[in-house]
Order: sequence, then C-alpha cells, then structure tokens
Amino acid sequence: MNETPPIRPDIAAARLSPAELDRNFADIHPALSPHDAAVEADRCYFCYDAPCMDACPTGIDIPLFIREIQAGNPLGAARTIFSQNILGGMCARVCPTEELCEGACVRQAAEERPVRIGLLQRHATDTMMATGRQPFARAAPTGRHVAVVGAGPAGLSCAHRLAMLGHSVTLYDTRSKPGGLNEFGIASYKAVDDFAQREVDYLLSVGGISLQTGTALGRDISLEALSATHDAVFLGIGLAGVNALGVDGEGAPDCRDAVDWIATLRQAGDLGALPIGRRVVVIGGGMTAVDAAVQARALGAEEVTLAYRRGRDAMNASLYEQELAARRGVRILCHVQPRRVLSHGGVVQGIELERTREEGGRLIGTGATLTLEADQIFKAIGQTLLAAPQDGAGLPALEAGRIRVDAELRTSMPGIWAGGDCITGGLDLTVAAVEDGKRAAMSIHAALLRERP
Ligand SMILES: Cc1cc2nc3c(=O)[nH]c(=O)nc-3n(C[C@H](O)[C@H](O)[C@H](O)COP(=O)(O)OP(=O)(O)OC[C@H]3O[C@@H](n4cnc5c(N)ncnc54)[C@H](O)[C@@H]3O)c2cc1C
Ligand code: SF4
Repeated sequence: MNETPPIRPDIAAARLSPAELDRNFADIHPALSPHDAAVEADRCYFCYDAPCMDACPTGIDIPLFIREIQAGNPLGAARTIFSQNILGGMCARVCPTEELCEGACVRQAAEERPVRIGLLQRHATDTMMATGRQPFARAAPTGRHVAVVGAGPAGLSCAHRLAMLGHSVTLYDTRSKPGGLNEFGIASYKAVDDFAQREVDYLLSVGGISLQTGTALGRDISLEALSATHDAVFLGIGLAGVNALGVDGEGAPDCRDAVDWIATLRQAGDLGALPIGRRVVVIGGGMTAVDAAVQARALGAEEVTLAYRRGRDAMNASLYEQELAARRGVRILCHVQPRRVLSHGGVVQGIELERTREEGGRLIGTGATLTLEADQIFKAIGQTLLAAPQDGAGLPALEAGRIRVDAELRTSMPGIWAGGDCITGGLDLTVAAVEDGKRAAMSIHAALLRERP
C-alpha cells in the first residue's frame, strides 16, 4: 500500500559551519584599542551644556568622561560613568546611541559623524572591569533591609545603589540566572563572551546584596510577606507575557514567541546544535523582531522575512536596526498583517497575510492577501506585564496594563516602588530601566531616612 509520506518541517541544526557561526555571531562593535580611543576622545569639543548628556537617560557626564580618557585616565572615566549608570558596560553595547547621545552630538551636524560615545564608554568601563576593582565603597550598614524583585537592569541598578548607601538587599528572581533580558534577550552579537554574567558579578562585588534565584513572586513569595519582612520593596519584574497574534493556526509548535526563542538561543552552549528553519517569517516591527530575524539569518536560515503591519517609519526598531537587518539579508515587508498560520499535520507550511493601508492613522485591512512559505514563524508583537492572570494577584494598581508609579517611582501600595519595563510610560530600553532602578533606590533611601527614629 502506498502511503503519502508525512510532511516534515525543513528545520535543521548546523546549517552553517562552526567558523561561519563564529563570524556571524562575533561582536558587532569590537572594542577600540587604547590608541583609537585616544584619537576618538580628541574629536570631542567638550561642549558646555553638552546635548549628548541631556540625551542620556542616566545623565552620564559625557564630556567629563571623554576628557578623562583623553587625559589617559580611563579608570577615572569609568568612575564617572558608573556613578550614574552601574550597567554602563552593557549600555555601551546595547544602547541605541544613534537615537540618544550620538544622535544629539554636535559633531553629527558638523561632520556627519558623531563622536563614538558608546565605544568610548565601553573602553573606559571594560578597562575598569578588567581590574576587578569596585569604584565605590559601601556606606556603613544602616540596618535596613530592602527586597528587590527581578534581577534585570532595573532591579540590579536599584540593588547596587541601595547597597552603596549601606542598606542590605535581597534580590529575588524567578529564573535560574540573574541579568534579566541582558542575559536572556539582548542579541548575542551585542554582548559576547558572557558579558551579562560578568557584569552582574562585578556589580554584586559591592557587597550587601544576597541573590535568591528560582524564586517567583506570586508562586514562592508574596508582596504581603515581603512587605512584612522588609523595610521596602522594589519591583523590577519586566514584561513576562507576550501578545498573541489571535489568528487561526498559531498554536502550531513551530509558530513560536520570538522572546522565548531568543532566550533559548542566548543560553545555547553550541549554536550549531540549534535547529533553524530554511524559511523563517518574523511578525513584528520592533527590536525583538529585528533581533529574531537577524539571528535566524546568522544561524543559516536562507529566507527570512520580517512582516510588519504599518510602514517603516512607524517601526519601533530604529533606522540603524532596520538597515542592519537589510544588510544581513532580512527582507522587510511592510503593510501586511497575519490572517492565518498554515500548517499540515501540525507542521508549519507558511502564513497568509493581508495587505493593509492607513487612513488618518487608522490601520485598515484591504482584503487582498498573499502567502509566504515558512518552516518557522516567530511572533514579536509586543510583551505584556504578566505571563498568567494569577501572577497579577496582589500587584499594585495598573495603568495601561503596567504598574502605575508617581514621579518618585512609588506605586499605589505604601512601601512598594517599581521601575523598568513593568511600569507605565517607560522607554523599554536597558538604559531607562537602569535609571528607574537608581531613582527608585534614592527615593527608598530618602523614605528610610525620614522614618528613622
Ligand atoms: C529581544 C529583546 C532585545 C532587546 N534589545 C535591546 C537593545 O538592544 N537595547 C536596549 O536598550 N534594550 C533592548 N531591549 C529592551 C531591554 O532589554 C529592556 O528594556 C530591559 O531589559 C528592561 O529591564 P527590566 O529590569 O525592567 O526587565 P527585565 O530585563 O525583563 O528583567 C526582569 C526580571 O524580573 C524577573 N521576573 C519576572 N517576573 C518575576 C516574578 N514573578 N518573580 C521574580 N522575578 C521575576 C525576570 O526573570 C527578569 O530577570 C530588548 C528587549 C528584548 C525583548
Ligand atoms: S555633543 Fe559631541 S562634541 Fe559635544 S560634548 Fe558631547 S560628545 Fe563631545
């Protein structure tokens, strides 16, 4: 009897050689040599009222640290950076500098090339971290104890500042490793050589912070219990949930959340062992979508299409990231929205998309469709605060689906602060989360001082 052979997904490991994978995942912006750093520092005008500094969410004194590098004092430069941003090493690697400090640099207008502030920041912070020296000593112990929930950029920054000020901190995280999206989300080629964990180790070396991984708020600990046993609580729990496409067929196993897939990729010991489709479609227009698409190509996918429902100018991914995707062979298809995931016997075959247009800012489906063949589909259409509804039990008041805070990052619950991606109105950038953590720590510190008998 002749049976039709089952359709198999064209998803395979080791599409590229180890040498090709090494090349594709190599550091995207290699470090400057000390000589190149000195030459680059010389290009700075050390502007009075420097616009680059205003554009940095953490307010780093950029002209000062560049002058310190120019004077041959990279350790002093690192101290200047770390005093405002203890994750200055990661931010030097992942910040969209073209939209922040470098986008504001006056040399951009004069010569069409800004001072390479990000690389100079990396030069200084790498130099300091290589010495293993902590630039800050802890203040005398205050006897106060703060719980920080979430060991991502917001929680780490908050914990470090509180520890510096002499408070004891317990840092809880549901995952097995600290770092948040620095460890599980950021594209591999932005933070090579286990930088996220090295940075966490460096930060924790200030002392006074005890780390408790594998501990989830809502499962192992409650806000009520934390409030009862600590003098203050900071929530830096990020966005654990992801939005669904809401179309037929999206439950197929190879129609996956991009964030989840990137986390698997980031933790893979051997990239060659990670299966990837020959044809991949990524749905979305933000940083996560670009990172998933570029890394799918880097693993050896032959055709990668990023499908976005509006025009390029509406994409959350910056122009730089869009160009990076295009340079790495990703096709960007705009004005299409998903209609149906096509699969056969559970095996993804492709996706049906509907063309869209905008009318007065409103998105309208035109009814015209097209089909893209695909072995794997990654969904990257935004994240939400909670992974499951029960996780929300006991959280402070929300606004627009995230935790509502005041100007000092206090939540609706007394003694509980929050910051980073989990709060309303944030920038959803590493550097913004670091700033929130720092500001919340200063507010907690002031509150604890006020309460002192
Ligand atoms: C794929 C991807 C790529 C990105 N790339 C960039 C980039 O290149 N540049 C950039 O500036 N930004 C980037 N971002 C955004 C940036 O990573 C985030 O803005 C930043 O990590 C937010 O920090 P956070 O501390 O608020 O949250 P997170 O980094 O998400 O950390 C939250 C932590 O809380 C923990 N947690 C969650 N729920 C619980 C719970 N119930 N109990 C205990 N712990 C909990 C999590 O395990 C996690 O460790 C990217 C984001 C994604 C998804
Ligand atoms: S704007 Fe540019 S030139 Fe001016 S201080 Fe900043 S980095 Fe230097």
